[in-house]
Amino acid sequence: MSAVCPACRSAHSRAAMEVAGLPLRRCNSCASLWVADPPPSEATEALYREESYYTAEPTVEASGDGIAPGYTGHYLLDRHNVEAKFAEVFDHVERYASPGRLLDVGCGPGFLLSVARRRGWQGRGIDVNEWAVTYAREEMGLDVSRATLEDAGFEEGEFDAVTMMDLVEHVADPESLMAEAARVTRPGGVLAILTPDAGSPVSRALGRRWPEARRAGEHLVLLSLEGALSVLRRTGYIPLGWHYVGKTSSLATLAEDVGLALPGLARAATPILKRTGLARRELELDPHTKFVLYARRAGPRAPVHGSSPVRLPKRVPRARPTERAVLEELRALAEATRLCDWMFEQFARYVHGRVVEVGAGIGTFSRRILEAGASELLLIEPEDACADELERALGGEPRVAIARELLPDAPSLRARAGQSDFVLCQNVLEHIEDDVAATTAMADALRPGGHLTLLVPAMPRLYGTLDVVYGHWRRYTKDGLRSVVEAAGLEVVELYPFNALGIPGWWAKNRGARVEIGRSALRAYDAAVGPWRALERRVKPPFGLSLVVHAVKTAEHASTANTGSNGAR
Ligand SMILES: [Zn+2]
Repeated sequence: MSAVCPACRSAHSRAAMEVAGLPLRRCNSCASLWVADPPPSEATEALYREESYYTAEPTVEASGDGIAPGYTGHYLLDRHNVEAKFAEVFDHVERYASPGRLLDVGCGPGFLLSVARRRGWQGRGIDVNEWAVTYAREEMGLDVSRATLEDAGFEEGEFDAVTMMDLVEHVADPESLMAEAARVTRPGGVLAILTPDAGSPVSRALGRRWPEARRAGEHLVLLSLEGALSVLRRTGYIPLGWHYVGKTSSLATLAEDVGLALPGLARAATPILKRTGLARRELELDPHTKFVLYARRAGPRAPVHGSSPVRLPKRVPRARPTERAVLEELRALAEATRLCDWMFEQFARYVHGRVVEVGAGIGTFSRRILEAGASELLLIEPEDACADELERALGGEPRVAIARELLPDAPSLRARAGQSDFVLCQNVLEHIEDDVAATTAMADALRPGGHLTLLVPAMPRLYGTLDVVYGHWRRYTKDGLRSVVEAAGLEVVELYPFNALGIPGWWAKNRGARVEIGRSALRAYDAAVGPWRALERRVKPPFGLSLVVHAVKTAEHASTANTGSNGAR
């Protein structure tokens, strides 16, 4: 048992280090780290029982390399920093779930629950530390009880979200913990875990000097990101995204933390910090050795998606662009005629007969589709401001129908099942969580032999603030996009990167403080498109800001896809 990875279940592991007499093993497959022969659970639970767990001075154990369990006496004093970190976690959580019933496992003195309460969540907490439970109840006025998750006996599907901050590493069997978390979460509910990353370059380079490993005995399993994903997938979760998380603390606390790894440096620095008054100066440090991972509880009503979880920016803005701003950007894009012509050129050969454009915006491509001779054109557009503009511009055209609908459940699309010659969907799929269902809905609208063209943002590594602001769930790899198209029952005809010229601009904007694409920048870009377009047509660069896929519904796929989609949903 102890040689089998508790994260990914691989049987291939090796002896990695020994801390305070406890041997640790590392998985050869996912790099997770665990105590091979964990002490009995009564012994580990005793570690957390006393007040001193939260208030003791940090000490290096007599055996030399281990670190005594618990937080330093600064935990309560650092409350504002801890709460700021949890607020950032909730900026992410609330992108996946609206405030509702929350369970915080291992809630400590209740800082996370206090943050959540201010944001409208009804929180409950459990912890095994009597002092922390009393503090959370009496000082913070929170609904907290003393229990482990296994003993608490919550009802199935009782919570909309479950959080576990700095908890998973303390249990010997993360799989049974996650399985119980999944049981008490409603299908579609959200999980957020914060835990050290045993697979990160820094923690691996530190080896047995890594402070998280030196807490062996208190820490029983240190997951890698890959290991954590593996546990979540086995326990009924769909991983959504993750980011590294650092720690903001005063220089005094930092010196103590550093002192655990480098006592000499800390001894030299502490008197200087005190003398100069720098001890209270605060600093954020993120050596990329801890991550927060977000996942959705799978289930009959939970959405499915075809891509792996995205690496999220650590901080996400809560503001979303206004309808007016969206409209302005679509108008600016429409003025970039060279770019639009170039985009149209990608699918022009498929435009004939009955056409559907999903996410028509303000009709920039709709006009071109009509000019190219479509006999019927259904425009699907959920944004009212855009749909109003479509009505004004194209409402009088007898070939055009306009539907204000959202995929995957768009009735007008369902009404055209098996009838459309061509479906076009540009810069839409990334906005839909269940991209397989959305693509299946479009595939179902095609007649056998009909074509679908998708244009989606590429290069997951570019995913950043701008994607968050625009409501993008992901950016696509070629393989990820192919799997979505094939899951929808279509056959890929061609799949290629598009618009490498747009990458530097997007990257720069994503880093900058201004989160929109400026009109002047787009104009300058459009001027460059002319020569670039000729170049990309010949050279076919291996990467681009977007991916284009052309897919066809074969007669054979037409029958299997229909039974498949009806059966699964
Ligand atoms: Zn493993």
